[in-house]
Amino acid sequence: MRIDIITVLPELLRSPFEASILKRAIDKGLVEVHVHNLRDYTTNKQKSVDDYQFGGGAGMVMSIQPIDDCISKLKSERNYDEVIYMSPDGETLNQKMANSMSMLNNIIILCGHYKGVDQRVRDHFITKEISIGDYVLSGGELGAAVLSDAIIRLIPGVLSNETSALTDSFQDNLLSGPIYTRPAEYKGWKVPAVLLSGNFAEIDKWREHQAYEHTKNRRPDLLNE
Ligand code: SAH
Repeated sequence: MRIDIITVLPELLRSPFEASILKRAIDKGLVEVHVHNLRDYTTNKQKSVDDYQFGGGAGMVMSIQPIDDCISKLKSERNYDEVIYMSPDGETLNQKMANSMSMLNNIIILCGHYKGVDQRVRDHFITKEISIGDYVLSGGELGAAVLSDAIIRLIPGVLSNETSALTDSFQDNLLSGPIYTRPAEYKGWKVPAVLLSGNFAEIDKWREHQAYEHTKNRRPDLLNE
């Protein structure tokens, strides 16, 4: 899979891909992440990528020209499955979306800044708009990193057995139940006995029950989906 991220702040998108699981996925060649600085595409003499809002009002708007040039150049090089705009009014990201997007080949993620982008960008270039939650960030970069992380860890071969995605929260519409590691007793606080029993059928049953109860308590809405 290849992810192209378009941004005015490429430095914000460095560290998320330079550590741990995402770094390993890139090193193994399972995913390519390319970050493009929008300023490299502006034809404007001042290198500006934004302008005042027509009709007046506070906040700058990202201009269409550099975004068009960057997206058009990428599209001339390969086909893209989706051109995504990170936006608080987009579809809220969830595990189901991450699952299906992990099967795509090439995606572009456009990060907004200031007040957002000229509406014509959204009308003519964007195929999908994604929000990472009902709050407003100062830019799309952290959202793009969140979206990329959620997708990349689901690409086959990225997670090892120990970190298998299949038992994570939201797969099968269940939250993960409690987990424990050594010591079996700490300051008198004991690990549930069943986990030490060696009876794997019982352990599976216990885990299933815990996941169900935990989901019922915290997110009953998931059980009705
Ligand atoms: N004026 C816009 C917010 C602009 S915030 C509005 O009221 O809807 C600047 C940029 O940050 C946005 O263009 C978007 O790319 C990004 N952003 C802000 N909140 C986000 C969220 N919840 N999810 C994804 N991207 C977000």
